[in-house]
Amino acid sequence: MGRSEKLFKEAKRVIPGGVNSPVRAFAAVGGTPRFIKSAKGSAITDEDGMTYIDYVGSWGPMILGHANEAVLEAVAQAAQDGLSFGAATAREVEMAQLIVEMVRPVEMVRMVNSGTEAVMSAIRLARGFTGRDKIVKFAGCYHGHSDSMLVKAGSGALTGGHPDSSGVTQGAAQDTLLAQYNHPDTVQALFDEDPGQIAAVIVEPIGANMGVVPPKDGFLQALRDMCTKNGALLIFDEVITGFRLAPGGAQEYFGIDADLVTYGKIIGGGMPVGAYAGRKEIMEHVSPVGSVYQAGTLSGNPVAMAAGLATLRQLKENPQVYTDIEEKARTLAQAMRRYLPAENCTVNQMGSLLCPFFTGEEVCDYETAKRSDIARYAAYFQHMLGKGIYLAPAQFEAMFLSAAHTQADLERTIEAIKEFGETI
Ligand SMILES: *Cc1c(COP(=O)(O)O)cnc(C)c1O
Repeated sequence: MGRSEKLFKEAKRVIPGGVNSPVRAFAAVGGTPRFIKSAKGSAITDEDGMTYIDYVGSWGPMILGHANEAVLEAVAQAAQDGLSFGAATAREVEMAQLIVEMVRPVEMVRMVNSGTEAVMSAIRLARGFTGRDKIVKFAGCYHGHSDSMLVKAGSGALTGGHPDSSGVTQGAAQDTLLAQYNHPDTVQALFDEDPGQIAAVIVEPIGANMGVVPPKDGFLQALRDMCTKNGALLIFDEVITGFRLAPGGAQEYFGIDADLVTYGKIIGGGMPVGAYAGRKEIMEHVSPVGSVYQAGTLSGNPVAMAAGLATLRQLKENPQVYTDIEEKARTLAQAMRRYLPAENCTVNQMGSLLCPFFTGEEVCDYETAKRSDIARYAAYFQHMLGKGIYLAPAQFEAMFLSAAHTQADLERTIEAIKEFGETI
């Protein structure tokens, strides 16, 4: 028995399902999850000493590659100074200033500890600011695991077959209204049904938790216009797209200003960090200046800030990273379109995010994403893993490119895709 197998067996005795986040359990693809020992650049190495080209990148944060030298140095330095003070620090000011510089419409930022917390707080703020209760979300979008967002959620909730979680009260879910991604008419219908009741529309600017589903032309602008017209806030959940699509995230990439933005993943450079941000007039409703309460013992943690700052600074100073990772994603998407038969494979790619769906039909929303043959995804995953390529262990996730992926990595990956194409 290998080390991963042994660890998984032990883990299942003391951790539910053996994992601390469901999708890690490999339930959707079968087999034993690889327990990871270390990672460097584009490579991860498991407990059995097997090394893989990694396209998960910790689900997005590792945009510069694993164990980036400048990030490691910043973390080591910060750790020397003490791990946590529960008091204000200079690094938090630097972080907020850097975000405000990089993301144009943002004027103020509050740091939290995860994407879930960022979204939960932004929703509370939207409700506090507008004095309204209802929130519109899209089927298949994932916004973390706070109660009101576990309604037709994507990612692990969708993979596990529980897009609506038990344990969420009707009370918590009743103010969450559901719309269909890429169908602005479904949002208009909700505004018509509940005039003056909707506090915010929250959206992933690129759907990246039902596989990758790019917004159609005009979709995000239609949301912007409807929110403005109806006095609701537009929240871009940029936990994945933030600092990934462009230095200014989806707002810059699509040229659309949201009212509130949520961050996670890249913003912590691999440490547990989230943030929510927006215009001063809205953000000043947060305590202690405003009446919307939100707090955190470890929020703005100095070591976490050091990792995030070192990551964001490199992205700001090297904007060519964005053209580079987008080009790599396009290369892989082209190879998939070439080598996987079009009658049963559709490849979606935007920016540095991509994924194949095993269906011949266009995938543009939750319903069409669910048509993918997930058994075939599992076969694809296992084939790639056998070739030393580590993909998301579930269909409804993205493939993440990083600055550390090399030409040789791409060539090996394309070769493995080609071989899989010959089997189907
Ligand atoms: C990952 C993710 C979250 C949740 O972030 P956590 O740090 O896992 O809590 C929220 N929204 C989106 C779009 C995400 O991809």
